Amino acid sequence: MMVAMAPTAHDKLLGDLDEEQRDAVLAPRGPVCVLAGAGTGKTRTITRRIAHLVTAGHVAPGQVLAVTFTQRAAGEMRARLRGLGGDDAEASTASVQAMTFHAAARRQLSYFWPRVVGSTDWQLLDSKFAIVAQAANRTGLPTGTENVRDLAGEIEWAKASLISPETYPAAVAEAGRDIPFDAEKIGQAYVGYESLKARRDGMALLDFDDLLLHTAAAIENDAAVAQEFRDRYRCFVVDEYQDVTPLQQRVLDAWLGDRDDLTVVGDANQTIYSFTGASPRYLLDFSRRFPDAAVIRLERDYRSTPQVVSLANRVIAAARGRMAGSRLHLVGQRPPGPAPQFKEYPDEVAEAAAAAAGIKKLIESGTPAAEIAVLYRINAQSEVYEEALTEAGIPFQVRGGEGFFTRQEVRQALLALQRTAERVPPDAQPPAGAELSELVRATLEPLGLTAEAPLGTRARDRWEALVALAELVDDEVAQRPQLDLRTLLGELRQRADSRHPPVVQGVTLASLHAAKGLEWDAVFLVGLADGTLPISHALSHGADSEPVEEERRLFYVGITRARVHLTLSWALARNPGGRQGRRPSRFLNGIAPQSQREDGPSRPRKARGPAPRCRVCNAALTSSAAIMLRRCESCPSDIDEQLLSDLKEWRSQRCKEMKVPAYVVFTDNTLIAIAESLPADDAALVAIPGIGARKLEQFGADVLALVKSRQ
Ligand code: ATP
Ligand code: MG
Repeated sequence: MMVAMAPTAHDKLLGDLDEEQRDAVLAPRGPVCVLAGAGTGKTRTITRRIAHLVTAGHVAPGQVLAVTFTQRAAGEMRARLRGLGGDDAEASTASVQAMTFHAAARRQLSYFWPRVVGSTDWQLLDSKFAIVAQAANRTGLPTGTENVRDLAGEIEWAKASLISPETYPAAVAEAGRDIPFDAEKIGQAYVGYESLKARRDGMALLDFDDLLLHTAAAIENDAAVAQEFRDRYRCFVVDEYQDVTPLQQRVLDAWLGDRDDLTVVGDANQTIYSFTGASPRYLLDFSRRFPDAAVIRLERDYRSTPQVVSLANRVIAAARGRMAGSRLHLVGQRPPGPAPQFKEYPDEVAEAAAAAAGIKKLIESGTPAAEIAVLYRINAQSEVYEEALTEAGIPFQVRGGEGFFTRQEVRQALLALQRTAERVPPDAQPPAGAELSELVRATLEPLGLTAEAPLGTRARDRWEALVALAELVDDEVAQRPQLDLRTLLGELRQRADSRHPPVVQGVTLASLHAAKGLEWDAVFLVGLADGTLPISHALSHGADSEPVEEERRLFYVGITRARVHLTLSWALARNPGGRQGRRPSRFLNGIAPQSQREDGPSRPRKARGPAPRCRVCNAALTSSAAIMLRRCESCPSDIDEQLLSDLKEWRSQRCKEMKVPAYVVFTDNTLIAIAESLPADDAALVAIPGIGARKLEQFGADVLALVKSRQ
C-alpha cells in the first residue's frame, strides 16, 4: 500500500528529473561530462548535482566552485541554488560559490598576491583602451575609437588563446582569422601594450586576462599556494563548457592539480564564440583526458514543442565538422504547439511591422510581453524593430546593447547633421530629395560611412549602424521628396525621443549571441537573409568554411530559444521600393516551404518618390555603397579624372566667392556624376541627381563649359 509522505529533500532534488539527468546528478564524485543539446536540462542538472553533493554531505558547500562565463549565467546559477538548499545551515547550497572565471580569479589573486609577488601592488585595469591606444600610436596603427577597440580585441583573443606576440602572426595565419590590421604590426602593438602596462612605477596594472594568467601561475609555481587553494576548493563545476578558452582551461587545470572532481556540461553545437578564442575541444576531449569519466548524454528537450525541436534537428543535421559529430537527435517533451512560421517580406519595414503585429496578437491572447523576443544577427538591425514596436505601442528592452539612437555613433551622426544643417545659409534653397540623401551620406562619411565595410568587428559594428541610419534617411526621402535637412533632423530627434524608456517586463530585442542560454515562449527570428545570416564576412571564407558553420550554430541557438511560438522571417530589400535583390538564408534551403511571400500588414504609406537608380544600367539601387556611387558597384566607372579635378577646382573658387560650404555648390558625388556622364546640354545636366532647376540656372553654364573644354 502506498503511504503518502511529505516530500523529502531527496525527492525535491530528483523528483522532477529524468533518468539520465538523475544519473548525472547521482554520479559519484569524480569526472562527469554532460554532453547534450539545447533545452535538455543541462543547467538544471548541474545545479541539482551541486545541491545533491552538498545535501548528501559529500562536500561542504564552501568547497564547491561553480564557474561560468557571464554574470547573468552566474546569477542564474546562484538563484537556482538558493531555491534548492536544505534547511540545515551546514548543508546550505546558498553558500556555494557560483561566479565567472574572472570573478573567481580576481578573488583568489587578491588573497594570494602579497605572498607570490611581495610588495608590488596591483591594480585592475577596468578599461585597457587608453593603453592600447598608446601602443597603437607607437606602432603606427590607426587610433580611432573603433580601431583601438579592434586592436584590443586581437590582444584579448591572443591572450585568451595563450598566444604570445611573437607567435601571433603565425597563429593568425593558421587560424585563418580575419584581422583588422597587418599581423606583424598587431604583434608589435601587443608587445608595446604589455610593456606599457608593466612600466607603472610601484604598481602592476593587470587586465582581465592577466587576472587569469597570474592566478594560474601563482598556483602552478608556488606549492604552498597550491596546497592552500586545493584545501579550500575540492569540487568544480563548469556550465557552457564549450565556451572555455585555453587560458580559462589553464586556470581550471591549476585549480584541479592532479585531482579529477570536475563536472562539465556543454553543447558543442552551440559554440558561437570561437572568434574570442573559445574552443569546444576540451568538452569533446573530456573523456580522452579522464578515461573513467561518467559521460551522460541527454536527448529529451524540455524547453520546446516537438514542432520547434524538429526544426532545430533539421537545421543542425546539415552541420559539418567535428562539433557536428557530437550532436544528438533531440526529442521534444512538451505538448504539441503551432508549426513554426516562415515569412518573406518585400522590405525590412514590412517585416518589422508584421513582427510587431504578431507580437501584439500574442500579447492580446495572453502571452506576457516579457516572454517574447525578437532575435537578430547584428545590433544595427534593432532600429527597425524599435521603431515598429514603438509605433505599435509595445514596450521593449534592447538586451546586451543600447537602443539604436543611444549608440555613440548615431548620437555623433545626429550632431554632425545638426552642424551641417546650421551651415546651410538661410536664404539658400535647402537640399531635398536625392541631394539630401547625398548630403547626409557626405556628412556621415568622416564618421566612418565608407563605401566598403571596414575590417575589424567594432569598426564594422559602427559602420553598420551608420549604414542603417543612412538607409533610414533614404526611406524618409523616398517617401517625401520635399523633405529638407532641418525637418528631417527634427523627425529623427522625435523618433529617438518617442522610444520607450527600457522596461524590464517588455519584449526583448537581442542579438543571437546575447540570447544564449535563455528561453522565451515566443521568438521572432528576423532578418534571415543570405549575407546577414550567414553574415557576409563569414561567407567570404567560402561556403563550406568553419565561419559559415559557426553561423549555422548561431541559427540553431536562435531556434532553440523558443518554447512554443517561432516565426522566421526575411526581407528581399532593406527599404520599401528598393531593389529586391536579397535571398533567404541558405540555412533555410529545404527547410522553409516554397511559397511564403507576405506583403505585410497594410500600412498607410506616404506618397513615395522613385528609388535611386544606377546611372550606368538604370537598375534600382539598394546598397548604400551603390547609392553613394550612383551606380551599381559592378557597373564600370568611366570617370574623366582631369575633368573631376577641374570641377573641384572650379567649385572651391565658387564657394569662396559665395562664402558657402562646398556642398552648397555641388557635393562630391554630383561632381563625380558629371565627370562620368559628361553632359552636353541642360537636359543632360538636370538628369543628374542633385542638379535641379536652381542649380542649373546658377552653375549650368560653367559646368557645361568645363565639360566642353575637355572634349
Ligand atoms: P541550453 O543548452 O539552452 O543552455 P539547457 O540544456 O541548459 O539549455 P535548461 O535551461 O536547464 O536547459 O532547461 C531547459 C528548460 O527545460 C528549463 O525551462 C528547465 O526548467 C526545463 N527542464 C529541464 N529538465 C526538465 C525535466 N526533467 N522536467 C521538466 N522540465 C525540465
Ligand atoms: Mg543552459
